[in-house]
Amino acid sequence: MKNWLPWFELLLIAILTGIFVPSAMAANSLDVDTIESLFTSNTKAFIEHVDKLTAEPTLGWSAQDKITLAFYVGRAAILRSDYVAAESSLIKVLDLSEDLTLKYRAVVSLVNLHQHTGNFYKAFSYGLQFSDEKYAALEDELKASGLIVMALALMDSGLYDESANLVRKIPLEKVSARVRCTALFLTGQIAYKSGIFVKPLGQIKADNKQCAAANQILYSLLTDSAISLVHSNQGDVEQALQLLREKNAQVEQLGYENLTVGWQAVLVNILASKKDLSSLETEARKLEPLTHSKAIENSLEVALLAYQGLAASYKLLGDQPKAMHYLELYQQTYQKANNRQMTAALAYYAALMQAAERKQEISLLNQQTRQLQLENELAKAETVNNRLYLLVAVTVLLLLMTVLYRTHRSGVKLKERVTFDKLTRVFSRDHFEDVLATCLTVAPGQQQKLGFVLFDLDHFKQVNDSYGHQTGDWVLQQAANAAQQCLRKSDAIGRIGGEEFAILLQDCDLDMSRALAESVRLAIADIDTTPTGHKFAVTASFGVSTAQDYGYNARKLFSVADEALYQAKQQGRNKVMPLEPQQV
Ligand code: GH3
Ligand code: MG
Ligand code: MG
Repeated sequence: MKNWLPWFELLLIAILTGIFVPSAMAANSLDVDTIESLFTSNTKAFIEHVDKLTAEPTLGWSAQDKITLAFYVGRAAILRSDYVAAESSLIKVLDLSEDLTLKYRAVVSLVNLHQHTGNFYKAFSYGLQFSDEKYAALEDELKASGLIVMALALMDSGLYDESANLVRKIPLEKVSARVRCTALFLTGQIAYKSGIFVKPLGQIKADNKQCAAANQILYSLLTDSAISLVHSNQGDVEQALQLLREKNAQVEQLGYENLTVGWQAVLVNILASKKDLSSLETEARKLEPLTHSKAIENSLEVALLAYQGLAASYKLLGDQPKAMHYLELYQQTYQKANNRQMTAALAYYAALMQAAERKQEISLLNQQTRQLQLENELAKAETVNNRLYLLVAVTVLLLLMTVLYRTHRSGVKLKERVTFDKLTRVFSRDHFEDVLATCLTVAPGQQQKLGFVLFDLDHFKQVNDSYGHQTGDWVLQQAANAAQQCLRKSDAIGRIGGEEFAILLQDCDLDMSRALAESVRLAIADIDTTPTGHKFAVTASFGVSTAQDYGYNARKLFSVADEALYQAKQQGRNKVMPLEPQQV
């Protein structure tokens, strides 16, 4: 008895997809209200209306209107059983629609379409899209329709646990009676097929009374048939039978073939299990012609239920050939249904895996995108950093240049200070010694003649003592100046002590050096001191030496000249004294 099933698939598409009418649609282009009302009320008129619309030029229609029409074209194609055309139309909607509601409705239709044609892999692949995040914000009513078609496909595949889980997800308090009663029907179906109760039987029965009261007759009756099968499964044949008899008139009145055939098949099965031979013969004979109906063709489960009931009935009634005939049909159908369920279940797992893979791919893609983003940000930051570095570098360079310039300036000043004697403006002792050292290093190779003169002011202490330190300074300046006037550009003079000076003479032998020293002596002796307010004599004593005669050695030049100077002082001052070579 476990293989009874939904014979109302197409009806479900019609009802579920017919529920949701987009509210705001341009009236001057596609009249959605008309098309929707035609769809739910008059299938034939709906198909004709869609045909008319597709034949007319849709010039001036918005792109979305054209896509919306494609949705109805798809639904009309389903009604004509043109599933290929239906699929291509609905895929177009799925791919192109900016309207998420319409997109979702297209997915619902595609799931139902593929489930109906037995392409479970496609049905489940589409069905797994319902949980896409982009649909999360859609109305509960619409999302419930997705859950229902998916639950239905899962139930059809024998995946009752999965189906029950989806039914549990439907927010019953937030949806219309129609959706609520469809969910209840699924609950009943799952209960009798698998023994899984989404809610207790008592609750199912109570809820179904509400559905009848809410005028959801079809689903209420379908649920009733499921309830009676649950009773039968639980061994409560009387209850099952009572329910079926109670609602039988309503089923006939409704005249919906799938329901009528299924209902009759359930009745026969229950009578057979009750071994109620009197009623069984009548009811079996009523069911027999129905096995040639479209309902049997459309649903393996209805067929199974009918063949099983008839085989059992004829066996009980003693019609062995007929019993054999229906048993064979039952077995063939059972095989088919079994294969179908196995295929469907496998398809579900394949679709799940594919969806997981796609999710992984997407997350990988997202990761890659994120990585790229990070890299870009990093590159941007680097550019900024590089600019910063450049700025810092330029600033540092500017600072450095300023510092260098200042250092250079102060260096110049420092050098000036070091190079020249502050008071007399001749070379300082240090600088004079540097110049002398350089000349001595370069000169010997060239056999250059270098003359060296030392002179010291005579009795200078007395000048200071007699006329003051300032007059002494003035005398020092005048003496240095007078000496400088006698020298050539290539010569160098430095102050090497208080009132002691040294002169380096380029290209001068001893005689020339003496001669030059002599001219300096005369120039100093010529200094007129009247500007100081005092009249006194200024003289100096000179000692001369040469590199040629005494060696290219600074210390030697100094010591020889110093010795000669000492002799000049000794011999009465105001004299130039060369030291004779033999004297050294
Ligand atoms: P002599 O003829 O033997 O060289 O006698 P002198 O007095 O010149 O020699 P002494 O070494 O006794 O005296 C040198 C003086 O020079 C002593 C010092 O006060 C003075 N003197 C040294 N440097 C300066 C200076 O920069 N300015 C002034 N005004 N006097 C200085
Ligand atoms: Mg002296
Ligand atoms: Mg002196």
